[in-house]
This record gives sequence, C-alpha cells and structure tokens, in this order.
Amino acid sequence: MKKHYKIIIIGSGPAGLFCAYKLVKKGYNDILIIDANKFPSGGLLNDCKLNLSTEIGMDLNELQLSKKKAEKYISQIDNIFIKFGAPIELFGTNPAMYQEWIDRAKRNDAELIPAKQRHIGTDMSKRIIKKIRFFLEENGCEILLGEKIKKIISEKDITLISETKKIQ
Ligand SMILES: Cc1cc2nc3c(=O)[nH]c(=O)nc-3n(C[C@H](O)[C@H](O)[C@H](O)COP(=O)(O)OP(=O)(O)OC[C@H]3O[C@@H](n4cnc5c(N)ncnc54)[C@H](O)[C@@H]3O)c2cc1C
Repeated sequence: MKKHYKIIIIGSGPAGLFCAYKLVKKGYNDILIIDANKFPSGGLLNDCKLNLSTEIGMDLNELQLSKKKAEKYISQIDNIFIKFGAPIELFGTNPAMYQEWIDRAKRNDAELIPAKQRHIGTDMSKRIIKKIRFFLEENGCEILLGEKIKKIISEKDITLISETKKIQ
C-alpha cells in the first residue's frame, strides 16, 4: 500500500462502500477504504433486506430530506444492488394483501407499515459485497482490512494512525 491517498474512507459498511462507489462513478480514484474488520461490509453482512420505504429506518426531518428526494436515493441504492446481482423479485407490492394484519396491529395499538422489500439474504449479500469490492478495486480503490484507526491528526495533511500504520 501507498503512504499517501487523495481520499481515505474509514469504514467499509454500506455508507463507506456506497460513498466509494459514488466517488468512483464521478471519476475519482486514489481512494483508500480502511476497516477494522477482516471482511469488508460492516452491517451489510446480514439478512440484507432492503426496505424500500421512506417510513422505515430513517427520519426525514433529521436528515433534512424531502420524501421525493429520499425516494430518489432509495431507488438509486436499490438499482446499485440490482446491478451487483440482487434478486429482481420484490415483496410487499400489494398492501391490500396485508390489510388483515394492518387492522390487527391497529386493534393492538400498533402500526404495521406496509413496505416494498427486496430480500437479498446472507449468502447472496456475501456475493454482492465481493462484487462491489472487485468493482471498487478495479477502479482505483484500495481496501485495507483488519486495521483500526485509533487517531486522526488534522494538520496540513490529514494523518490517520492505527496500531501498526501511519497513513496520510
Ligand atoms: C443484526 C442486524 C441486522 C440488520 N438487518 C438489516 C437489514 O436487513 N436491512 C437493513 O437495511 N439494515 C439492517 N441492519 C442495519 C444496517 O446494518 C445498518 O443500518 C448499516 O450497517 C449502517 O451502515 P454504516 O456503513 O453506517 O455502518 P456499519 O455498517 O456499522 O459500518 C461501519 C464500519 O466501520 C468500521 N469501523 C468503525 N470504526 C472504525 C475505526 N476506528 N477504524 C476502522 N474501521 C472502523 C466498522 O468495522 C464497520 O465495518 C441490521 C443491523 C443489525 C445489527
């Protein structure tokens, strides 16, 4: 690995990987992604259900996002997953099917939010992560795993310090 990079991303979870993907698509290279774990992806390595809804998993007010913009981002992210091999099949496209459950939840002072879902699953999420990783490495990203950043020094250049390395 080199000693200097133009862009360093700490964390290879969905935020880090998608940030790198966007940068690469905009023509940036010379990017280093660092993760304390030995396998990239952070919390992406789970059952990997994509809730394609603005009502689940985010607070639009906190993010200062309009519903329209959030829907656009959700669709963009979903398309990237499809590009890397996520199944085409969507669940939850017919809320009428869940009306009985919605009513039952209401009777129990709960709210069931119908949402479109893409179910990727643990095995396929591993394959998708590998493909994203391959794409990023092919396009000017280096991925450094098993290296926890302990300290960030911001002077003329930014220096990251792990137990064994000093990277700028
Ligand atoms: C059991 C479980 C199941 C889930 N299922 C789903 C689901 O089905 N669908 C869904 O949409 N969401 C799901 N989530 C939520 C989802 O995992 C998180 O929203 C998502 O991972 C957040 O992404 P992130 O990139 O912000 O952070 P993370 O995924 O947490 O990634 C952060 C990364 O940064 C690394 N890191 C942190 N500090 C350092 C450091 N100092 N130096 C180097 N590396 C560092 C970590 O090792 C990690 O890999 C689930 C979460 C859990 C816990």
